[in-house]
Amino acid sequence: MPAYRHIFFDLDHTLWDFHKNSEETLHELYHTFNLSALGAKSATAFIETYKEINHHLWDGYHKGTITKEQLRHSRFRNAFKSSGINGEHIADDFGNEYLRVSPTKPHLLPNAMQVLDYLSSKYTMSIITNGFAEVQFVKLKHARIEHFFSHVFISEIIGYQKPDVRIFEHATNAVGVKPSQTMMVGDNFATDIVGAIQAGIDHIYFNPEQTPHNLSVQKEIFDLHELMTLL
Ligand SMILES: [Mg+2]
Repeated sequence: MPAYRHIFFDLDHTLWDFHKNSEETLHELYHTFNLSALGAKSATAFIETYKEINHHLWDGYHKGTITKEQLRHSRFRNAFKSSGINGEHIADDFGNEYLRVSPTKPHLLPNAMQVLDYLSSKYTMSIITNGFAEVQFVKLKHARIEHFFSHVFISEIIGYQKPDVRIFEHATNAVGVKPSQTMMVGDNFATDIVGAIQAGIDHIYFNPEQTPHNLSVQKEIFDLHELMTLL
């Protein structure tokens, strides 16, 4: 392997356990807002519906067909409607609470802390994320991992989203390393891996669900602890 100097990490679903943190928040808010009294069948059914709608809207956001405001405005309104919840009057409050609470949840993917601790003695590291600026810093702080990273590159601030090669160029310039001296670790092939390939950055595809695929990747891991033998 080349002599790497700097490791780029994606944040959501790679280090920060988005799934667990989000579900925990939705469960809490389901009860706080008493959605069962407003017609919801179950927390589980509501969360599944929300996730499907949110996923679809995020697709639209990534493709540029909807704005961040439209995404935030629509996701709980649509989820309430699809779940038979009579809750248009509280959808915005629910959405605001979700945005406030979920980034404060501290759950990381298994072995993330141990691996970051190990890698931090060998490399400098930073985050490249397509998430929203006001929540990504909160996540890093509450998960107690912000001190591991020299930089946090957020698409909203830089002006380009992964896989746009310009966010990777911006990051390598800011860190002061050549693309060939860096490694990108991420769970999303279309954004993290495709972007890294286009930018001339080596990559490790993190596939914790072990989803079968026939994508062409340099390295694939199922558990973050594998990074301790690869890097
Ligand atoms: Mg991700």
